[in-house]
Amino acid sequence: MIFTLLTLFPSIFESPLNESLVKKAKDKGLLSFNIINIRDFTEDIHRTCDDAPYGGGAGMVMKVEPIYQAMQQVNAHFGRPHYILLTPGGRTFDQETATRFSRRPHLGLVCGRYEGVDERVLSLVDEELSLGDYVLSGGEAAALVVIDAVARLVPGVIGNETSSIDESFKEPLLEYPQYTRPQTFMEMEVPAVLLSGNHEEIRRWRRKESIRRTILRRPDLLEHFEPTDEDRRLIREIMEEVSEA
Ligand code: SAM
Repeated sequence: MIFTLLTLFPSIFESPLNESLVKKAKDKGLLSFNIINIRDFTEDIHRTCDDAPYGGGAGMVMKVEPIYQAMQQVNAHFGRPHYILLTPGGRTFDQETATRFSRRPHLGLVCGRYEGVDERVLSLVDEELSLGDYVLSGGEAAALVVIDAVARLVPGVIGNETSSIDESFKEPLLEYPQYTRPQTFMEMEVPAVLLSGNHEEIRRWRRKESIRRTILRRPDLLEHFEPTDEDRRLIREIMEEVSEA
């Protein structure tokens, strides 16, 4: 899978894309990155990428032409990616979107800066994406989050293929609690069932704790939850435990 990044600050990507999982996936040829400096597509001697907003107001706005020219070059050299503009005004990024993106061969992530991009950039992209209801100083941090979430869904990127199977949001449920050694830490014990070796009991416990955790922390997710008969029994047990407590 190819990620093309359009940015005014290419060096931001150097370290994050050369570490750990992403680096290994690059080395295996599963992922590749084109980092495009939008400033290389300016035509004036000052390499101007931003200008004052029409109508006045604070800050500067990224100009449309250098972004357009950068995209033209990307399209000609690498084929047109699915273009995404990172912007607080976009649809909120979630696991479903990450999964959808992971099936695309080529994503183009357009990173804004300053007060954002000229509105006409929106007509050049396929979708607008937000990380959440807060304002970052640039799209690069947002692009890195998207790359991280998408890359680990690309087949072969995670060494242990099963490790993404049970994760939070695969279903509209949070993941169950996880433990590793030591068995006792400051008098806090690992639940006995996890030491039992009984795989069926462990599976059932994990399912129940996943549902319990979602009820307690993210009840909004349950709106899209379709419980099985077993899930209904587990929910009844949780409710009984809560009322007894
Ligand atoms: N003036 C803009 C507004 O109020 O919507 C904010 C511009 S922000 C300082 C600069 C750039 O950071 C944006 O163009 C966008 O690329 C990126 N950015 C900021 N917050 C973001 C978010 N929540 N999700 C995705 N990108 C974001």
